[in-house]
Amino acid sequence: MLFETRIYNLRNIDTGIGMIIDCHGHYTTAPPELGHYREQQKAELESDPDHAAIKGVIDISDDQICESLEGAQLKLQRERGTDMTIFSPRASWMGHHIGNESTSKYWTEHCNELIYRITQLYPENFIGVAQLPQSPDAGLETSIAELERCVSEFGFVGCNLSPDPSGGYWTSPPLGDRYWYPMYEKMVELDVPAMIHVSAACNPAFHTTGSHYLGADTTAFMQLMTSDITRDFPTIKFVIPHGGGAVPYHWGRFRGLADMMGRPPLDELLMDNVYFDTCVYHQAGIDLLLDVIPLKNILFASEMVGAVRGVDPETGHYFDDTRRYIDNNKILSDENRQAIFEHNTRRVYSRLGVD
Ligand SMILES: [Zn+2]
Repeated sequence: MLFETRIYNLRNIDTGIGMIIDCHGHYTTAPPELGHYREQQKAELESDPDHAAIKGVIDISDDQICESLEGAQLKLQRERGTDMTIFSPRASWMGHHIGNESTSKYWTEHCNELIYRITQLYPENFIGVAQLPQSPDAGLETSIAELERCVSEFGFVGCNLSPDPSGGYWTSPPLGDRYWYPMYEKMVELDVPAMIHVSAACNPAFHTTGSHYLGADTTAFMQLMTSDITRDFPTIKFVIPHGGGAVPYHWGRFRGLADMMGRPPLDELLMDNVYFDTCVYHQAGIDLLLDVIPLKNILFASEMVGAVRGVDPETGHYFDDTRRYIDNNKILSDENRQAIFEHNTRRVYSRLGVD
C-alpha cells in the first residue's frame, strides 16, 4: 500500500502564523529492549564476524514508546513551542561498521519500524526519516531498498546518509564517486533529501559528537564542492547538519578554494541543492550562520535530547533550545524567521506537502 502524502498545515500555538518544524531529531530515548537486541547482535558477531543475522523480534509495547517520548521530546516540543520533529533513529547507534550487511539490514529495519510506530502514535508530532543499512565495503542495494520501503510504506520524508560507514576511518569513496550514484538516483526519483550524517566513531582519534560529526559535515561539503553531483542530479537535495560544521565560519576559504579550483561560485554550484540546519548551540554561532549563508538554505533544527543535553550556565537555558537563538536574532524579519521555521523545510522535505 502506498502511503498517502499528508499536508501538514497546522498553526503554531505561540506565533499563530505557521508551524515550527524541527528537521533534525533522533530517537535517543528508546526503551532498553532496543539496546538489548543490539548487544545480542554484537555477541553473535564475537564468535563469528560473518554471522548471518536473522531479524528476530523486539518486544516493545506502545505504552513503552509513549513513556519514552512523553517526558522527553514531546515535553520539550510543548515547552519550546515547536510543532513537529522530523525524526530518525538514534544516529550514534546506526553503527554501520558493526558486523556485516545482514547485521546492518535487520538492525536498521527494526530501528526504522520503531520510528514508523512513533509516527502512527503521534502523527501530528513526528514524521519519519530513514536510517540506511550501510556497511563498509558493501554496495548500496540494501540501503536503496530500505529507503524505498520507508518512503512508500511508512511515509518517511528523507534519509540519513553516512559518507563514512567505517566509523571514522573514511574508507568509502568520496560522495562524488559513482559508487553513490544509485542512491542519488533513488533519492531524486522519490524526491527525498538526504541528511549527511555519520554515526559513532570507532577510531579513537575522534570524539563522536564533537570532532567526528563536525568533521564529517565539513568533509561532506568539500566533497560535494569538488564533485559533479549537482550537475548530474540538478534536483538532488542534501542537508548538512550541525550548522554545516566549519563551513559557514570558513565560508571565505571555501569560496576561495572554489575559485582556485576553477569551480563555479558556490551559490551557483551548490546552493540550490545543499542546506544547513540550525543545530548550533550558542547565539553568536547562529547569528554568524544567518549572516553568511543565504536564508533559503537554512532549516530550523535542534537535535534535541541529542549530543548536548545540559543547560548553558551563561544563559540558564538548554544549549539545544535553538528556537531561542532564532527568536533572539536581531536581523531576521518575521517573514524570514518563518521561512527558517517552516517554509524552507517544506521545500526541501517536499513530501511534507506545501502549505
Ligand atoms: Zn543528528
